[in-house]
Amino acid sequence: MGKLAVEGRIIDGTGRDPFDGVVLIDGEKIEKVGLKNEVTIPLKTKTIKVNEGTILPGLIDCHVHLMGERTLDFMKSAFEPSELKAIRASTDCSKLLDAGYTSVRDVGGLGIYLKRAIEAGEIKGPRILSAFKILSQTGGHGDIHAFPLDVAVKVGFSRLCDGADDCRKAAREQFREGADFIKICTTGGVLSERDLPTSAQFTMDEIRAIVEEAQRVGSFVAAHAEGTEGIKNAIRAGVKTIEHGDFIDDEGIKLMLENGNILVPTFSIGERIISQGEKYKVPEWGIKKMRQLWEVQSTNFKKAKLAGVKIATGTDFGGGPLTPLGENSQELELLAKEGFTPMEAIMAATKTASEALNMKDKIGTLEAGKFADLIVVNGDPLSDVSILRKTDNIKVVIKGGVIEKHLRSAKVSVS
Ligand SMILES: [Zn+2]
Repeated sequence: MGKLAVEGRIIDGTGRDPFDGVVLIDGEKIEKVGLKNEVTIPLKTKTIKVNEGTILPGLIDCHVHLMGERTLDFMKSAFEPSELKAIRASTDCSKLLDAGYTSVRDVGGLGIYLKRAIEAGEIKGPRILSAFKILSQTGGHGDIHAFPLDVAVKVGFSRLCDGADDCRKAAREQFREGADFIKICTTGGVLSERDLPTSAQFTMDEIRAIVEEAQRVGSFVAAHAEGTEGIKNAIRAGVKTIEHGDFIDDEGIKLMLENGNILVPTFSIGERIISQGEKYKVPEWGIKKMRQLWEVQSTNFKKAKLAGVKIATGTDFGGGPLTPLGENSQELELLAKEGFTPMEAIMAATKTASEALNMKDKIGTLEAGKFADLIVVNGDPLSDVSILRKTDNIKVVIKGGVIEKHLRSAKVSVS
């Protein structure tokens, strides 16, 4: 791999105003970023000139499920062959990359296998940080309540665990299989039939045991946490990111600020379930629960944002027509609807998202020394952030210095 230069209008993800500049890439890393007169492009360097459009850091989704889902009716999908799901998930990975997503956090899915195939160059896809199986208490959000327990344990994708020792073992099992971090459920949820998003799940001892195991291997824990108490339990026990966070209260916000936690609100799944859930046969009780908390989440989210809580993008998409991987930038649109400026939405999908992956020194912004993950989008996302959602608008995708996508046109030329 030699050098590569990308020249044009740059949004570097740090929050700095856009500027006309150059990203100079050497191998898999960024060597230098700056204004045109600050960066000398060595002779004969391959140069991508962006005449119209914008250069951005590769986008990041902190909450996807790479498990080849094609329905949110888990009573159906639980019985689909895992081989079929794996094939679908590999297609989903290439869709993500095509849409400009160069990194994702797989918070329960087949990511531990997909990343091996991607790293070996066998399939196309983003960098993946995977939790593998979701840790849930028996009868909790990760359980499938309509099935007899032994069937749920066998066909469900969660690892049900109870008591601090068993929770510790469950966390160790995920790391043994190659997980990068641990995903737990500290409250009930929307798509679990017999629990409530407001109910706390796991005891403090159980959560602490899991966090301890993660920290021991230099990793972290992400918690599905919707209810007030479960959110606070998770933060107090040392969890890094709060997923959803609908019922967060003032004390929870204060705790997040003190501990530097990141909130991943996942508005996209909520919007999809409410607007199209019926069409795609989401169980009725799930749609009802989602409708009940939509307004609450919006109100509390705005409070958290105003207080200065760090917020990162996550869709909770798992593939298929209802939650299509590849349309992940819907989350930026929804953040804009909730009061984010386009620049804030972009930072939630780049800089802050990289923190949620524990990779802020490696990805998330266009700065010297980081991996050369960048995209070129047709148009200006600062005047309309929704342009990012259309895969056709993503003209160039570079991951680790490798050009993964390049739609040739007069707007983006190569010399
Ligand atoms: Zn999820």
